[in-house]
Amino acid sequence: MPAAFFGHGSPMNALERNRYTEAWSAFGEAVPRPRAILAVSAHWYVTGTRVTVNDQPPTIHDFGGFPRELFAFEYPAPGSPALAQRVHDLLAPVSVQLDDRWGLDHGTWSVLTHVFPHADVPVVQISVDRAQPPAYHYELAKRLGPMRDEGVLVIASGNVVHNLEILRSGWKGAAPGWAARFSAEVLARIQRRDHASLIDYLSLGPEAQLAIPTPEHFLPLLYAIALQRDDDAIVPIVDGAAYEALDMLSFAVA
Ligand code: ZN
Repeated sequence: MPAAFFGHGSPMNALERNRYTEAWSAFGEAVPRPRAILAVSAHWYVTGTRVTVNDQPPTIHDFGGFPRELFAFEYPAPGSPALAQRVHDLLAPVSVQLDDRWGLDHGTWSVLTHVFPHADVPVVQISVDRAQPPAYHYELAKRLGPMRDEGVLVIASGNVVHNLEILRSGWKGAAPGWAARFSAEVLARIQRRDHASLIDYLSLGPEAQLAIPTPEHFLPLLYAIALQRDDDAIVPIVDGAAYEALDMLSFAVA
């Protein structure tokens, strides 16, 4: 199975049809049908590593200020306690908590509703441990590699550029186009397998500080590139910016 990173952008993408969601749908139509999905979401950023173990993970509406229609949205994919246990075993001796209190948050379902609209592929979410540095996440993700041979599609959902403060209030301090330049720079480094500089992303210059004011939306990208094997290419799914400070770059490792 390939692995993929999705720039998920606004939760409203769940309800909309636009060039990003159409590209996600096209990916879903082209990819071999997975046995299950392991989703790394920027929106489960907690201390420790947890995996959802529910038979029927609830749809979590982890946001405010959106239309009622979005709060009513459901993505009723089944869970997979067996996959949760497999992740637990693969990552040992890292302590992985089997969690039945979370479910699927919008980092996962706003994308998957387009990739697998019938919600008929089991989904397990894994948290992003906020207590750990980027290199830890990259190494942890490498240990998930065998799942690609077991029919599991690993998707990581975040955003390469995610600065809601600039998105809301505007900011004149950087030259126009800074976000697009940063996204292109990140993609170029992904394509030449310069993983070291992406792990050390704050070294990528002042635009990195603007693009990644907090780590949680960038760290999922490290999971996708960590799963790249020697014979894998980077296959673009879509790029572009929903807003200057919200970049939608999505790609597959296949
Ligand atoms: Zn988000």
